[in-house]
Amino acid sequence: MVQEYGLFFNGKWHKSEGKRFDTRNPATGEVLATFPMATPAEVAAGIKAAKGSFEKWRKTPAPRRGELLLEAARIMKQKKEELGRVVTSEMGKVIAEGRGDVQEAIDFYTYAAGEGRRMFGETVPSELPNKMCLTVRMPVGPVGLITPWNFPVAIPGWKSGAALIAGCPIVFKPSSLTPLCGAKFVDCLDEAGFPPGVVTMLTGSGSNVGDGIVAHPDIRAVSFTGGVDTGKHVYESAAKKMIKVGLELGGKNAIIAMDDANLDLLMDGVMFGAFGTAGQRCTATSRLIVHERVYDSVVGELVERAAKLKVGNPLDEKVDMGPVASADQEKKVLEYIEIGKKEGDKLLTGGNKLRGGVYDRGFLIQPTVFATDRKKRLANEEIFGPVLSVLKAKDYEDAVAIANSVKYGLSSSIYTNDLRWAFRSMQDLEAGITYVNAPTIGAEVQLPFGGTKETGPTDTREAGTTALEEFTYWKTIYVDYSGRLQKAQIDTAKLVGG
Ligand code: NDP
Repeated sequence: MVQEYGLFFNGKWHKSEGKRFDTRNPATGEVLATFPMATPAEVAAGIKAAKGSFEKWRKTPAPRRGELLLEAARIMKQKKEELGRVVTSEMGKVIAEGRGDVQEAIDFYTYAAGEGRRMFGETVPSELPNKMCLTVRMPVGPVGLITPWNFPVAIPGWKSGAALIAGCPIVFKPSSLTPLCGAKFVDCLDEAGFPPGVVTMLTGSGSNVGDGIVAHPDIRAVSFTGGVDTGKHVYESAAKKMIKVGLELGGKNAIIAMDDANLDLLMDGVMFGAFGTAGQRCTATSRLIVHERVYDSVVGELVERAAKLKVGNPLDEKVDMGPVASADQEKKVLEYIEIGKKEGDKLLTGGNKLRGGVYDRGFLIQPTVFATDRKKRLANEEIFGPVLSVLKAKDYEDAVAIANSVKYGLSSSIYTNDLRWAFRSMQDLEAGITYVNAPTIGAEVQLPFGGTKETGPTDTREAGTTALEEFTYWKTIYVDYSGRLQKAQIDTAKLVGG
């Protein structure tokens, strides 16, 4: 019996008047659950509940809010295996990565809980005597969290952990491809005991429900992860209300392989970076830029290793790569493979949808490698699938120029044992993240995460202490305990030199 979910607001699941949609396993086609498309009235009701909880939630001492986050982390830890299997069944990443997805939410909730006892402001000297100046963080109000399907527990975990500890009620809209992961995550928050209204989950299409959340006057910040075009639309809509927006919009991330790189280490990194999550991470390694002196040996090894990867049902522990997440993703990836062939890129391995037997039910594509050059579409556009483009560079400067030539700037990496290239690349690569001797994926929650260029505006960062910026504003407080009117800039003239 397929479970029929409702909408979560005011501390419980509600039946919806909206039409329903299925969520399916991308490896088998099996229907996992059904969800409602929230109607405009239901979106309004969810946001009203969030708004209604704000006063009480913001006044709940931050360390107490932190205790609830810790409790949610404990519950997720207890249910990690079950949640990990839901991630893998609904999204298609291999089970080790499904568990990792959940672990990331556990880690961030644990980290953010501690922020409840820090959330530091500043005390700043006044220019006048007997006066004190300080800054405190204020929660912005109810916030909208719009999330994609590729990290269906981790990304909601990052966004909600920061919002909740800051004192903001959340209105969460998961991707329509992964609402079951969203619902299981919300069940953990509910079990942890967040007060009614503080957690809301609304399902339905981005263009209706997502748009409705972003545009609603009571939503005071939006955190969005997804595609560039949607992100730009969200940015414009939020700008009309003058609210904060965090945008994380993907990348065309490169690993640079210098001629002194350790080949084994490089290959391990490239396999994980390019084909982990079937290449559907915003930080996935989409380009490998190789020094011409080692190009042939790197390509030889790469093709051998990629061809050996086992593709199949991601719940099978022995499988290296699962399906892509949906029919649309599959279509897009196969189209890019055709574009590569038409533009004359050399297909080195893969390039096909897997067919026959169990493969016919899933969106399974071979790990694919093309040799291309910097002018081609495969070298510039985000594919978001298991397709790696290899490019040849003359030297370090040429490799960096290629790496920086795309419109994105999320993650980057260099493999080298030469300190000159390692340290120069940290400054030279136009990206929010640079790895040395590790692939472009593998972010840790205690550090800022985000990019530059069309990956998104640089004024917000998820994770780390910087995550609070998305959901708080600074209030400046002046306390004058002199007992008389003191005028800044005017009375100070008398004070100089006594
Ligand atoms: P989208 O950007 O369309 O979806 C991301 C989220 O935004 C989903 O929850 C979606 O809802 C919602 N959304 C869609 N339209 C609107 C809107 N007008 N207002 C508010 N929210 C909206 O990405 P796709 O899933 O369609 O993937 C397309 C491409 O985007 C991928 O191939 C990849 O290139 C990129 N992408 C990047 C990600 C990253 O990590 N940076 C993650 C996912 C995708 P719904 O889908 O339910 O309609």
